Amino acid sequence: MINFYDSFRKEKINFIPKINGEVSMYQCGPTVYDNAHIGNLRTYVMSDIIRRVFEYEKFYVRQAMNITDIDDKTIRRSHEQNIKLSELTLKYEEIFFEDLKRLNILKPTIVMRATKYVPQMISIISTLIDKKFAYVGSDGVYFSIDKKNNYGSLAGIKKGAEQKERISNDEYDKENPGDFALWKFWSENDGENSWEAPFGKGRPGWHIECSAMSHEALGQPFDIHTGGIDLIFPHHTNEIAQSEACYDKPLSEYWIHGGFMNVNGEKMAKSKQNFFKLSDIESAGFSPLVYRYFLFSAHYRSQMNFTFEGMVSAKNALEKIYKTLAEISKNIDTENNSSAINSDYKNKFEEAIIDDFNMPKALAIFHDLLNDKNITAEEKYFTALNFDKVFALDFKNKSFEVNKAEQNLEIPENVKKLAEERLSARQNKDWKKADELRLEINKSGFDIIDKGEGYICTII
Ligand code: AMP
Ligand code: ZN
Repeated sequence: MINFYDSFRKEKINFIPKINGEVSMYQCGPTVYDNAHIGNLRTYVMSDIIRRVFEYEKFYVRQAMNITDIDDKTIRRSHEQNIKLSELTLKYEEIFFEDLKRLNILKPTIVMRATKYVPQMISIISTLIDKKFAYVGSDGVYFSIDKKNNYGSLAGIKKGAEQKERISNDEYDKENPGDFALWKFWSENDGENSWEAPFGKGRPGWHIECSAMSHEALGQPFDIHTGGIDLIFPHHTNEIAQSEACYDKPLSEYWIHGGFMNVNGEKMAKSKQNFFKLSDIESAGFSPLVYRYFLFSAHYRSQMNFTFEGMVSAKNALEKIYKTLAEISKNIDTENNSSAINSDYKNKFEEAIIDDFNMPKALAIFHDLLNDKNITAEEKYFTALNFDKVFALDFKNKSFEVNKAEQNLEIPENVKKLAEERLSARQNKDWKKADELRLEINKSGFDIIDKGEGYICTII
């Protein structure tokens, strides 16, 4: 049974799906006004691992993600660049999905742009006004947190009379809870970005987007809501308040939050100018999969510190893995057969991944597998490929590429000639001559690996 730490109950739980064999997951997607940074991408890798573990365990996963393509920041940036909001947001949405692809993150099964679901948001807000959870203020419609009896339980927040500040913008690093905007009335800054609503022309606040889209995609409650730890308050706290108040049901059965990617002990953030984009680390010579591998060195709930030293170690380790797998794969038929999976290692691996998605442990088990002298090359190779359903580090393709690169080495003419002679000797079953020719080839610093009807020439 899959178990994990539920950040709502604040304890480890055994996961029980609403529908047997299925899991519905919602993750807060990017605000598409700029590139994502690799801190953001850590959180998307976390959700990807969770999804892959469920799929490995034969669950059918419905994973929904929103795209925040309207908020204060997107509107401001489109004005700065003097372009239409959709031109800006579509550009960054495309870059975001490219980043996901390069990190081998599976695209969510349902992707929803906020601007396409405004009628659903208006409908929730109307219900909240009718039920007196929301009121119309001078610049928008606000959710009254005093009306919601368990407001803040996810974040462990206690309401106090003094905390009755109104928060109208999408600034979400606020310390204190307060009535928050569900809808913002049109102002000149919004330009053409507005919708008619019974309570006044305007645009949605950030939090209501996720309540409306998760309900539309997955119903309520769905199984698991994921995100970075910074979203617990106010974003997820406010999502819960709105959705519960509207539908009289919990929003999500379980909550999973990932730790920060830090730089020098501080959260990586756009506002702090201490961030790297995926393209920055690629320019520094690290493939996106090296970053994926680097992420597995810490548990998803721990904070991590990004350093280039750490990336160098990850790069070396991953290259070594690809080489080892390439070496192993030379002597086996890589197209055949999955029954060679080693059950001891498979069981240990599965225990690790279903225990709060423990990737550092899964990785350690994988290294033990590679170093184990007592199991066959077939078992190593196919067990590694089985683990890669969750790791998604491209073991098969990369080990093939390593071998191919070796084959394309400049092989001196005399070695080529000797190798051809040796092939004929083997075809004539003249094993003695074949062995002598191999020794000749070795003297030139090369070796031959017999492969079916042919051979591969490698450096010793
Ligand atoms: P945003 O685009 O700011 O809404 O963030 C998108 C996702 O990235 C959210 O799930 C955030 O919780 C997450 N996130 C933001 N900064 C970091 C960070 N430094 N480390 C890990 N996740 C982060
Ligand atoms: Zn959200």
